[in-house]
Amino acid sequence: MRVSIFGTGYVGLVTGACLAEVGNHVVCMDIDADKVERLERGEIPIYEPGLEALVRRNHAAKRLTFTTDADEATRHGEIIFIAVGTPSDEDGSADLRAVLAVARRIGRSLTEAQLVVTKSTVPVGTAKQVRAAMREAGTGGFEPRVASNPEFLKEGAAVKDFMNPDRIIIGVADDVSERQLRLLYAPFNRNHQKMVSMDIASAELTKYAANAMLATKISFMNELANLAEDVGADIERVRIGIGSDPRIGYHFIYPGVGFGGSCFPKDIRALARTAHDHDRPALILGAVEAVNQAQKRRLFEKITARFGTDLSGRTFAVWGLAFKPETDDIREAPARVLLEALWKAGARVRAHDPKAMEEIRRAYGDRDDLTLCDDPYAALDGADALAVVTEWKTFWSPDFERIRESLAHPVIFDGRNIYDPVELAALGFEHESIGRGAGSADD
Ligand code: NAD
Repeated sequence: MRVSIFGTGYVGLVTGACLAEVGNHVVCMDIDADKVERLERGEIPIYEPGLEALVRRNHAAKRLTFTTDADEATRHGEIIFIAVGTPSDEDGSADLRAVLAVARRIGRSLTEAQLVVTKSTVPVGTAKQVRAAMREAGTGGFEPRVASNPEFLKEGAAVKDFMNPDRIIIGVADDVSERQLRLLYAPFNRNHQKMVSMDIASAELTKYAANAMLATKISFMNELANLAEDVGADIERVRIGIGSDPRIGYHFIYPGVGFGGSCFPKDIRALARTAHDHDRPALILGAVEAVNQAQKRRLFEKITARFGTDLSGRTFAVWGLAFKPETDDIREAPARVLLEALWKAGARVRAHDPKAMEEIRRAYGDRDDLTLCDDPYAALDGADALAVVTEWKTFWSPDFERIRESLAHPVIFDGRNIYDPVELAALGFEHESIGRGAGSADD
């Protein structure tokens, strides 16, 4: 099949590469000329496991090409995906400017046979707006066919998720569109029926519902973790205790320093905004967001509780800058909240991340109070203490002797509960983690 994708970011590029891998001819369009040029040269602008090989292979086989030419991309695809960003607008709603700009662009040269599918995360009613924008741009009287196909891939496992989806949600208004999408996704739907077909509005809402539910689980656990500290319980034991109930399950109930990334925070806000627009207060969503904002400051609070509120003259080592492991994405990352709070309190930061340092450099530029270190142990040199913010696998079993020798104080702020409190105490560390007031109430 011939497929076009507007927006060649995490979602657009992964979608394009995976669809090309199964034999489709895919054109990825983006307005970022630099990005398109780099991709044409075989350079992958983001880090995503497995993506580079996939893009190179399919590009070499001429099944995957990149362009800034919107007309060329529109003419190419039997199916055209819109996968551009939908960031938060000032009032929290999803900013649809890019989606609708693409729709207008597509509308100029769309033909009746083509199907336009929104893959971006968009509020209910957006597919209708996309159709109206295309019509206004002059589709010549015919009613453009639109569908919704929200994306559920996870950064860090995006290729795997796309190739082996848990479900494929399609929102369609007619049989032809449904048949086209079923055909396109057949290679990913071989093992058992994963495709769930529904009306467009329900498909659009499904994506927000999924992200809101996941974010709720995290904020719930974080709220409980803080309480566990107060009452002298260990949230990690509580986690195992509740996860054993299959109605609850073990997935996604890890306490930590809050969620970040390009999706959960903005999607929670957008869904809350939709509720607000319908005079329906989103009480749970408001709480999820508020708990998360507070949780992102939790490590900083622990640092000031230990070292005082004036941190001038202090240096902290930070391991992990990406919002989660296996990605270079730092959008709304908890590490940024920590960095900014440390700087504001006068501290310097020496930081390491396996993949996200370039992004941090781009976000903050050169500054005297930030040293980015290629080696995690180099980040410890001259530091008062270590804060672990992202649970990259390489941080799980470090050389603790070396850490203790390098730090001015043997203190580890463990924002992801990856270290064993008993083990660290035995090694002579002060270990501050999340929600582990273990057993202190039993004495
Ligand atoms: P991204 O910022 O990585 O990529 C968006 C791309 O769109 C950029 O390359 C940008 O240059 C391009 N773009 C902007 N305006 C354009 C235009 N007018 N024409 C063509 N290209 C244009 O974003 P992303 O993370 O891939 O997210 C895209 C959408 O998918 C969002 O709605 C997001 O919520 C959703 N989503 C993201 C993820 C994820 O994990 N990143 C997962 C599921 C869904």
